[in-house]
Amino acid sequence: ANVLQTGWTGLNERTFVAVKPDGVQRRLVGDIVHRFEKKGFKLVGMKLVQASEDLLKEHYRDLRAKPFFNGLIQYMSAGPVVAMVWQGLDVVKTSRKMMGETNPADSLPGTVRGDYCVEVGRNVIHGSDSVESAQREIALWFSQDELHCWEDHSIRWIYA
Ligand code: UDP
Ligand code: MG
Repeated sequence: ANVLQTGWTGLNERTFVAVKPDGVQRRLVGDIVHRFEKKGFKLVGMKLVQASEDLLKEHYRDLRAKPFFNGLIQYMSAGPVVAMVWQGLDVVKTSRKMMGETNPADSLPGTVRGDYCVEVGRNVIHGSDSVESAQREIALWFSQDELHCWEDHSIRWIYA
């Protein structure tokens, strides 16, 4: 059933999440996907991508003046990432909570960064920081035909 027809609103919010190259190397993909699935969010896009430096420079364009920018582009292009789009109520804000703080040292146990990493330069996961960033990042990483609208049979058991 179309969520708009059933009267739920806000359920169409989408965010861009990526398991970074260190997360792929360290076999954290399944765990990270599982966290978002168990939470109740809906997977609408997912692929393994060897990102080009051009793509990453565009993705992180707001950080281009930062001293860590070149290192960040090298880190993010050092191996494939798992790019994903997740959908659900307040998914942008909630995903950021599930990820933890940018610096793993400030991240609480129970968050991805709190549980699995120690340094800001190897913090295993990316998530969009606002609805506007999410729209920009989804359009940058995915084409329309890679995003799938499928009927969610659990919707009544996740949303009241
Ligand atoms: N980063 C870094 N050093 C810093 C700050 C950030 O290496 O001092 C890296 C880190 O991988 C971070 C990414 O740059 O995840 C993007 O920074 P941002 O401030 O957007 O953090 P995020 O949104 O990923 O929490
Ligand atoms: Mg960011």
